[in-house]
Amino acid sequence: MTYGVVRQSALSVGLDDVGLVSAQRWDSDALFMDQWVAHGFHGNMSYLERNSDKRYDIRELVPGAKTVIVALLTYEHSGHDYHRTMKSRLYELKQMLTDLLQPTGASADSMFSTDHQHIFCDSAPILERRMAVAARLGFIGRNHQLIHPQLGSRVHIGELVLQKDVPDEQRELSENGCGDCSKCIEACPGQALGRDEWDARRCVAYVTHKCEICQQVCPYNEKLK
Ligand code: SF4
Ligand code: SF4
Repeated sequence: MTYGVVRQSALSVGLDDVGLVSAQRWDSDALFMDQWVAHGFHGNMSYLERNSDKRYDIRELVPGAKTVIVALLTYEHSGHDYHRTMKSRLYELKQMLTDLLQPTGASADSMFSTDHQHIFCDSAPILERRMAVAARLGFIGRNHQLIHPQLGSRVHIGELVLQKDVPDEQRELSENGCGDCSKCIEACPGQALGRDEWDARRCVAYVTHKCEICQQVCPYNEKLK
């Protein structure tokens, strides 16, 4: 099985893009997150103070994990219940990959954990955006969102965890990052954004779930209109 096969399968079940990343421990993110939480920037998101071992290393969450398929689904394609849509498409992808492997004699069960959950979307302590960047799906913008060069930042992230190595033959990511842009920082009503940080306590979306200004003004989303 190759990345090309995984991506073709993912697109055919209605996902918008996928990338692969090896299961590993994210030491630099662990350091950053621990400091961010220690500063209290996470506000009332006390769940970020728990399960840090699992968050920083998915092998603690899914023993035997080797590869994570990181999937993106645009807001437009995910409908009202994005958790459900994402998970059902990841289950379809799992079934498709299982069917593809069976003719070669590979055991389907050995690909996925039978004892642990292996499909996730916003539901477990996982560094989703970090893994999406490592899977070359985009970059983290100054608005603190994952930005895919073509899909913009209005994307949900999901994961399908495999107990199998998949050869990495991915395309190069052609993106220029934020460059000199600071539109989201200037437009943020709560002054939650800095050039290198995000203070959840000042974020209106975090408090009311009713702000998307930093995504609306982003040129990566503008060009999709
Ligand atoms: S969601 Fe709104 S308040 Fe939060 S960082 Fe973006 S613009 Fe600022
Ligand atoms: S608005 Fe500009 S600075 Fe903010 S995330 Fe988008 S490109 Fe980056």
